[in-house]
Amino acid sequence: MLTTHPFDDDHLKEECGIVGIYGVDEVAAHAVLGLHALQHRGQEAAGIVTFDGQRFHAHRDLGHVADSFNKQSVVEQLRGHAAIGHVRYSTTGDTILRNVQPLFADLAFGGFAVGHNGNLTNAYAVRRELVKRGSLFQSTTDTEVIQHLMATHLRGNVVDRLIHALHQVEGAYSLVALANDMVIGVRDPLGVRPLVLGKLGSGWILASETCALDIVGADFVRDVEAGEIVVLDRNGVTSIKPFSQMPKRFCVFEYIYFARPDSVMEGTSIYDARKGIGAELARESPVDADVVVPVPDSGVPAALGYAEGSGIPFELGIIRNHYVGRTFIEPTDHIRHLGVKLKHNANRAKVQGKRVILVDDSIVRGTTSKKIVEMIRAAGATEVHMRISSPPTSYSCFYGIDTPERSKLLAARMDAKEMAEFIGCDSLAFISIDGLYRAMGHKSRDAKSPQYCDACFTGDYPTELTDQTGGDGTHQLSLLAERAS
Ligand code: AMP
Repeated sequence: MLTTHPFDDDHLKEECGIVGIYGVDEVAAHAVLGLHALQHRGQEAAGIVTFDGQRFHAHRDLGHVADSFNKQSVVEQLRGHAAIGHVRYSTTGDTILRNVQPLFADLAFGGFAVGHNGNLTNAYAVRRELVKRGSLFQSTTDTEVIQHLMATHLRGNVVDRLIHALHQVEGAYSLVALANDMVIGVRDPLGVRPLVLGKLGSGWILASETCALDIVGADFVRDVEAGEIVVLDRNGVTSIKPFSQMPKRFCVFEYIYFARPDSVMEGTSIYDARKGIGAELARESPVDADVVVPVPDSGVPAALGYAEGSGIPFELGIIRNHYVGRTFIEPTDHIRHLGVKLKHNANRAKVQGKRVILVDDSIVRGTTSKKIVEMIRAAGATEVHMRISSPPTSYSCFYGIDTPERSKLLAARMDAKEMAEFIGCDSLAFISIDGLYRAMGHKSRDAKSPQYCDACFTGDYPTELTDQTGGDGTHQLSLLAERAS
């Protein structure tokens, strides 16, 4: 019997980056470079599986790509012309090697490796059924249900079985898979998570972001479409659309925070999107001040947009130390406090005696903002106004962005005025949800069929959350999250 949720924390807290390459010499070295460019999407573990025409080769390790794949011998043993790779991040829970992707299984048709960015929202329910029927799970990741669904479907080739499996899962998934002489890429029917296709010499590459194409000199071809499966093999690229079409719901938080600013997603530059949101924020929530200061690095493009939009000078009033990871990674409040001090320092010369507008992309628990406001005041700022380039984060994400459970989200407990008091700033404003959509080039948010997944701001989840409510009506995940905390 399962006494705890098999995915527990890591189910809720995964952020990942994926890459798939077919038809290229030194395929592992290319995959390493691609993963290196996607390191911001997951810093906890990395893995690569290759296929050389006869055999599969794999290397997975905890830690950063540059540390795990730094030996020539490791890269050389990953022989072949086809590869998939994965970087993963989870704050707590099972930080163990058996959870590090790509997962690999020997199925009736041969080897099958898979790497997943996103979260399946019914994985627990599906897993429970599979376990009842005798499946033996090797990991605690939700992704493994896809392999078991393929294994227990006794008909068809790899792609048929994959389609069969995908018809039974709910949630957000961009996948790369490697089978006998083919690389497969998939985006879920709503296209929540990104996946792009590029041309790499005489071969092909799939990646979470275009910055992974740039690093290996690949040419961007197109975004994989929502609900599309692309098969890369010796015949080139084959596109399959096995799902009935639905309106796209791409994750708007990729634009706000998660993706690298030099990437382009769904035709929009992340950098331009962030600047546009900052400019819209300046229109919506102006304030008389002397200087616009970003919280680096994530607040920089939005602050540039705010400065341009308001005509107030932009200054680097906070300097970031790049030799520490994101503060968010640290698991306890105490360590997070230390983390912020390690990571940011006020640039006194630019804030002393000034009325400062601080621009950041989001407030999650509020820990970062509180410390930074304190720091800017201690450096002599006369006023500190916070402007946030996202609406208040009031709901947890169940689709692959790391957010704490709802009770830990500051915006779920307080309104903007209370938050300003908690943070200690003179004023606080978030971009409105319609302002966000305007900045993204829409007239407003279409309430009936929103153009993006914005569930973290609105609570409007675009899929069933089966594991949240449970077939029997209990709130399994929230109960377990409480127990774990
Ligand atoms: P907090 O201190 O909890 O309010 O965290 C807010 C900071 O975390 C902001 O500066 C964001 O740039 C950053 N942030 C927001 N969402 C995430 C996420 N999913 N993963 C890592 N960092 C994040």
